[in-house]
Amino acid sequence: MGEKAVVIAAPGGPEQLKLVDVDVGAPGPGEIRIRHHACGLNYIDVYHRNGAYALPLPARLGMEGAGVVEAVGEGVTHLSVGDRAAYASQPPGAYATARVMPAKCVLKLPDAIDFETGAAMMLKGLTVQYLLRRTLPQGGLQAGDFVLFHAAAGGVGLIACQWARALGLQLIGTAGSDEKCQLALDHGAAHAINYRRDADFAARVREITGGRGVKVVYDSVGADTWEGSLNSLAPFGLLASFGGASGAVPPINIGTLAAKGSVYVTRPTLFTHIATHQATQAMGNELFDMVAGGKVRIRIDKRYALADVAEAHRDLEARRLLGSAVLLP
Ligand code: NDP
Repeated sequence: MGEKAVVIAAPGGPEQLKLVDVDVGAPGPGEIRIRHHACGLNYIDVYHRNGAYALPLPARLGMEGAGVVEAVGEGVTHLSVGDRAAYASQPPGAYATARVMPAKCVLKLPDAIDFETGAAMMLKGLTVQYLLRRTLPQGGLQAGDFVLFHAAAGGVGLIACQWARALGLQLIGTAGSDEKCQLALDHGAAHAINYRRDADFAARVREITGGRGVKVVYDSVGADTWEGSLNSLAPFGLLASFGGASGAVPPINIGTLAAKGSVYVTRPTLFTHIATHQATQAMGNELFDMVAGGKVRIRIDKRYALADVAEAHRDLEARRLLGSAVLLP
């Protein structure tokens, strides 16, 4: 079968994304070959495409997928030929009909979870797992605590709304339209703020929390929300800055953290958390339980043919998508 993959020759706009013929080859030690049934669309793919996160060129794209294991390299013991599987993984290369890749981040997909859901939930769901369960303020998070989660109607955001509800947290979600705010509320956010209309979202957060602020802000918007995020924290609160959809966060004057109430700042990435198979499996098991048990539903807003990947990137960057989207090879 002729195999296809999306490649960029140079960083730039969606027009750089080209679907080309490729040889997939056989897996080496520690690798598998997977035939994709669906590939996930993620904002990190935009950073890879436009050069915000530089890749050696020419580069393949895509960090998330689901399909069937076709071949297994030497030393791989947790997967067999014919297994249904899904992953979030480096290096990029999920935008493809099939690929060879490191096996350590590839997990068996439970029968209760279909391929499209698997492809839409691994990178985003494992991210929510590590944010809400492993990126914690002093003393941890207890039921009833307030957290602020930006872009709450996006792929990561809708999973976070539901997972936070399951933990008993009061998640205040921000989103860029009233429709998106309603969607966040429908998925478990306790409050929602349209930050394109109420630009001073920190003032709204103070109102909602009786003046105190939140224990954690989860901020993937970056430049546009940074200042307001710091202003939304309770004393000793934690700002987890995990992306920059609106641009990079400006350099920090460390004295600001004292002035805002002895607050903490962290800049985590999923790839530190899933560095080993053991850790990935433990995090994946929690995610599978949440999804298979119905506490988290993965909302697939749009399905694109792999050949229409440029259109998918345009929709994602124009903030037109609600929840997750997948590419179908
Ligand atoms: P989303 O579906 O959430 O899409 C990004 C959203 O960001 C948009 O829908 C939009 O929502 C919001 N946004 C705010 N400002 C802008 C802007 N100027 N341009 C475009 N979008 C903007 O994407 P994902 O679910 O794939 O990822 C969410 C974020 O999490 C991304 O920033 C991603 O990089 C980050 N991430 C980080 C990880 C990590 O480990 N560090 C891992 C996974 C994801 P609205 O219109 O409501 O404002």
